[in-house]
Amino acid sequence: MKIIDILNKKEKGISFEFFPPKSEDAMMQLLEVAHDLSRYNPLYVSVTYGAGGTTQDRTKDTLFMLRSKTDFTLMSHLTCIGATRESMEELLNDYKSQGIDNILALRGDPPKDVKDFDPSRGEFKYARDLVRFIKRYDYFGIAVAVYPEGHQESPSLEADLEYTKMKIDEGADFAITQMFFDNRYYYDFLERAQKKGISIPILPGIMPITDIAKIKRFAQFCNTTIPENIENKLTKLQDSPDDMKKAGLQYCVEQCEDLINNGVRYLHFYTLNKSDNVIPVLDQIEEFIL
Ligand code: FAD
Repeated sequence: MKIIDILNKKEKGISFEFFPPKSEDAMMQLLEVAHDLSRYNPLYVSVTYGAGGTTQDRTKDTLFMLRSKTDFTLMSHLTCIGATRESMEELLNDYKSQGIDNILALRGDPPKDVKDFDPSRGEFKYARDLVRFIKRYDYFGIAVAVYPEGHQESPSLEADLEYTKMKIDEGADFAITQMFFDNRYYYDFLERAQKKGISIPILPGIMPITDIAKIKRFAQFCNTTIPENIENKLTKLQDSPDDMKKAGLQYCVEQCEDLINNGVRYLHFYTLNKSDNVIPVLDQIEEFIL
């Protein structure tokens, strides 16, 4: 089922992102996580994809495993940097034959572990080329990524929004944001997007902070601001990981409550394949979920 049809039907709800596990054991653990999270009745579950040939097969295996063992509506992330039309066609046909009918269409980042990677050799330059390509199938639901604080390579917020509008206009049904920790960036983005004529649902990507050092590195890479008071509070708890996690998850609850109180209807959680990263948050916003 296309996710947009679910969003059109359901007034509110949550979704989860998983990444493809690296071993059989980790796959079994993910299955347990999936079962733990199934009681929150997610709108859909998505599985990330490695750019440039790193984890594509594992993404597919993970989706097919979830397809056979759960009744989640599934979405595959799919990056096009370095890909050929032929390889994309093969994968999309495979997905179609297995009933994986939702794709998060991404450009992706150049892979760090592929030496002398040359993005210009690929047949897709931007995510919008992939959206256009997938749209031709007239089969898949299509989502795209958006960046409330601007994509790290963009010269300006205006240019980024201009390109975002172009890829949405190619046929995206809905969008998911990059993680953000200050809701004002999200509200501002929604306002700017609306003024630009973007009317598809834009789901906030929520990253519960459980390890501030890791999140700081990731946030720096993807141009995400961590509010100074939160960074200071969590950094002071570095030597006490349990307390840091507790405080990080409490911040996540407050962030979600603010979104809900401001009329946000859907929340997309980056789980990092750990149910205890999200369950303590979900249990505190239970009224919203149930
Ligand atoms: P695009 O929309 O193509 O944009 C890339 C850059 O090009 C931007 O700076 C944009 O402003 C600029 N641009 C776009 N069009 C033009 C144009 N016509 N002319 C000039 N500049 C242009 N990565 C993975 O590898 N695997 C994943 O599973 C994954 N999942 C993600 C999920 C979400 C929700 C998000 C937010 C990101 C995810 N990413 C993932 C990261 C993503 O691949 C990177 O952020 C990547 O750098 C950009 O991808 P995009 O699809 O947004 O690119």
